[in-house]
Amino acid sequence: SDSHFPVPTAPSEVDYASHYPHYYPSEETYNENGESTIDSKVAIHKPQVKKIQFADVGCGFGGLLISLSTLFPDTLMIGMEIRDKVTEYVKERILALRETNPGLYQNVSVVRTNSMKYIPNFFEKGQLLKMFFLFPDPHFKEKNHRRRVISTHLLDEYAYTLQVGGIIYTITDVEELGEWMKDCLARHPLFEAVPEKELDIDPVVKLLSSATEEGQKVARNGGQTFLAVYRRITLSE
Ligand code: SAM
Repeated sequence: SDSHFPVPTAPSEVDYASHYPHYYPSEETYNENGESTIDSKVAIHKPQVKKIQFADVGCGFGGLLISLSTLFPDTLMIGMEIRDKVTEYVKERILALRETNPGLYQNVSVVRTNSMKYIPNFFEKGQLLKMFFLFPDPHFKEKNHRRRVISTHLLDEYAYTLQVGGIIYTITDVEELGEWMKDCLARHPLFEAVPEKELDIDPVVKLLSSATEEGQKVARNGGQTFLAVYRRITLSE
């Protein structure tokens, strides 16, 4: 259950030093006994000069994040994943990439959490530029629709977290879920569809299928995908 993983009580409590040590180096000193005097609380409470701007929600094995990391080398990004083993795998994957490519992959990290409950604990109002919901679990049965990661009430939270102009990317191979996500977004007053012309030149759109493990699987099986990409707007008068 959720009680097994720690949740920050507020965005200011997110441990940036442990996620992005390159951007938030801790000032480690040693006492006369050679013991570290580092106080992790100090590191945590240092002002966050650079904040997380991309969130891959239900990131799975992290393929998208790894591709985005080098495409947007100055943007901090995080994957949110509920499965413990999968989160550990992504952590190891990032650490290995940092090790073999000095200076690279410092802007990407992962956290184990239930995104349906805790998004506001991680991000302030208007903090995010991009949110990704890629090949989310379909929850076919009507009684399980409330467990879908895109819904009218969760979109209120995502709208709060996104900057005006920020973009929400969704993709699925389940047609019914694709329709559902598009409908929820289209009906929400704080989102508008990103025009086709813009999607064609957005390098991120290509990655939704090509860089995600799930997208690669669908492509191998010759499956179809359904895309909905929406922009956070302000309320019209
Ligand atoms: N986005 C990845 C991709 O395209 O390869 C993974 C897709 S996978 C089908 C869906 C992922 O969402 C799973 O790894 C699952 O554990 C995760 N997930 C489901 N519900 C979640 C929640 N409430 N919070 C965080 N992650 C969740």
